[in-house]
Amino acid sequence: MHNLILNWRILTEVVILWFVIYQIMLFFEGRSALQVLRGITILVFAFFIFQKFDFLVLNWLLKKLFGISVIALLIIFHPEIRQGLAQLGKRKFFKNNLNEEETGLAIKQIAEACENLAKNKLGGLIAIKKNDSLASYIQSGEIVDSRISANLIQAIFTPNNPLHDGGLIIQDERIAAASCILPLTTNQELSRVFGTRHRAALGLSEETDAIVIVVSEERCDISIIYRKRFYKDLSKLELESKIKHLIEIENEE
Ligand code: ATP
Ligand code: MG
Repeated sequence: MHNLILNWRILTEVVILWFVIYQIMLFFEGRSALQVLRGITILVFAFFIFQKFDFLVLNWLLKKLFGISVIALLIIFHPEIRQGLAQLGKRKFFKNNLNEEETGLAIKQIAEACENLAKNKLGGLIAIKKNDSLASYIQSGEIVDSRISANLIQAIFTPNNPLHDGGLIIQDERIAAASCILPLTTNQELSRVFGTRHRAALGLSEETDAIVIVVSEERCDISIIYRKRFYKDLSKLELESKIKHLIEIENEE
């Protein structure tokens, strides 16, 4: 009987531990901090193995390392910790909790703009903010702070417009900024057919959970890149429903 209770306890502990670690991994998925997290996991395993075999010096060294690493972790994970805390009370995508109909209309305007850009052989790059802050990218561009309108988006991406270069950022159901510089991916495996616009879109999707839309001026097609995944050659309707879907899965996360 005693054994049974013990086993039950161990099992519960394992399940809770697994759940917590899994959630932490999910949170860091696609962020550069994931590599750091992997490194720490390897260190922890090494620590247990060293202890098991009574390696005195290695044990001592690792213990010292753990002491320092608490401070190092706070510094390395500073943006993630801040974002995590900020997200705790904020599950909704749109700040003002606008109703579904208004959200749908805003998404329609974005999709319409993309379709027209593609038809006119114009390039476009639009990032829609979800949870992760895009503040530093907004700062790199020009503040627009306007209602979402298809005409305005098209006007922004029309060549010779001073704001046409770079990405447009949408946040809290408004066009926050245009001409923003987004981080280029360092992924070497990406096909050569993708130029800097696509590389910037992929880069942002590696760093944040933003929904990034690319209209290609060369191929005249529309893609969404979300968490490193490409959804290519979308029609206007597919684009609309994909954006809606990606916003919704955020609210369920
Ligand atoms: P397309 O299929 O439209 O030709 P592409 O992926 O081949 O796109 P380029 O042809 O190199 O990319 O597109 C260049 C444009 O991409 C630039 O004019 C600029 O507007 C945009 N761009 C390039 N780098 C960045 C960046 N770091 N952040 C935001 N936008 C960028
Ligand atoms: Mg190109």
